[in-house]
Amino acid sequence: MKLPSLNAQILIGALFGVAVGLLFQQTGIESTTASSSLYAATIIGTLFIDLLKMILIPLVFCSIVVGIANLRQHQQMHKVWITTLIFFVLTMAIAMIVGMAASTYFKPGSGLEVSMFEGAMQNFQSQQMPLPEFFAHFLHNLFVNPFQALAEGKVLAVVIFALFLGIALVMGGDRYKNILVLLEEGLEVTMRIVNWIMWLAPYGIAALLIKLVATQDGAMLGTLAQFVAIVAGTLLFHGVIVLPLLLFLFTRKTPFWFLQGARQALITAFATSSSSATLPITMRCATEQLNVKPEIAGFVLPLGATMNMDGTALYEAAAALFIANLVGVDLSFVQQMIVFLTAMLASVGAPGIPSAGMVTMVLVLQSVGLPAEAIAILLPVDRLLDTLRTTINVEGDMTASLVVQKIVS
Ligand code: ASP
Repeated sequence: MKLPSLNAQILIGALFGVAVGLLFQQTGIESTTASSSLYAATIIGTLFIDLLKMILIPLVFCSIVVGIANLRQHQQMHKVWITTLIFFVLTMAIAMIVGMAASTYFKPGSGLEVSMFEGAMQNFQSQQMPLPEFFAHFLHNLFVNPFQALAEGKVLAVVIFALFLGIALVMGGDRYKNILVLLEEGLEVTMRIVNWIMWLAPYGIAALLIKLVATQDGAMLGTLAQFVAIVAGTLLFHGVIVLPLLLFLFTRKTPFWFLQGARQALITAFATSSSSATLPITMRCATEQLNVKPEIAGFVLPLGATMNMDGTALYEAAAALFIANLVGVDLSFVQQMIVFLTAMLASVGAPGIPSAGMVTMVLVLQSVGLPAEAIAILLPVDRLLDTLRTTINVEGDMTASLVVQKIVS
């Protein structure tokens, strides 16, 4: 019997995961069948994420060095840099404007009172993170001993060191050609391993979704329904209208073509809630299915996975306005601008791991004097919204790689 294609298997896995998760949520997770199934789902889901994380660091390292080296040969380095950064900032800004406009219009949270959430807020200690400290911390984490960064999986520091090494190799020219060949082969062989890991993807994705859906707290969801609907609606608007429109305007590629090639990465992002863990698959989809040149993908995607977060930026900005409504604070125009800027900074600084946006959101709240403890209110729905915002983050990265490729070619 012929198995369905990997694309179809992944889709079936995702639907199966959501369906079984919903079933367990209805029947309760205490029964023996449910708890042993959840145990198995945890093992398989964790194994899948561990495998992706295993290959992540060698992949990021080799792909950036090789990407830079190849770009320099074409004398386009400068243009790629600038276009990438401009596109990242542009799409994050659009996402935040849409999120903030919808929040201002619908005013989620104005019917609710903070006292309704006292239970949630009691057991929660927010970590204070004033802006200057956050910035210093961010800078400090950029330049790290490369062996430490590689060993501890610090993606951003690995990206930075790989940028240095890539530039040094090019400037050295022929002298270092063996190192470059070594890394080129390293990249090829890591992609081969990614292809193997992909065979586990349908099962890993099903397992992750079963666990996520089954353990979702339904009660709070009702109270926060309006906020969840606004964030989910605007995230979808960004993912279904804004990004495809930009893609079409710049490259003339249709959304269907994009979806077909990007599907595996988008579903994985949804299930793992981690742009970094998804990166090996994002690179695979971009280079093998969306025809992005390896040197562009190798540069734009790893950088995007840690810095370009449209979904996170939108969420942080909308959540800040929601909390302001909840505590009855009317934010002035200047304060809204501060929310806009800090939400962008906070999402650039958030690592591509689950719930990272939630942690850096403290910064946004503090910047306009809102109580940082209030993020406890959002905790019950954070995992749910994280699935969507991570999907949009990854979609934004892939869109950026296609647009940058078109502009510099
Ligand atoms: N989970 C998101 C990501 O990996 C970050 C966030 O928490 O918003 O892209």
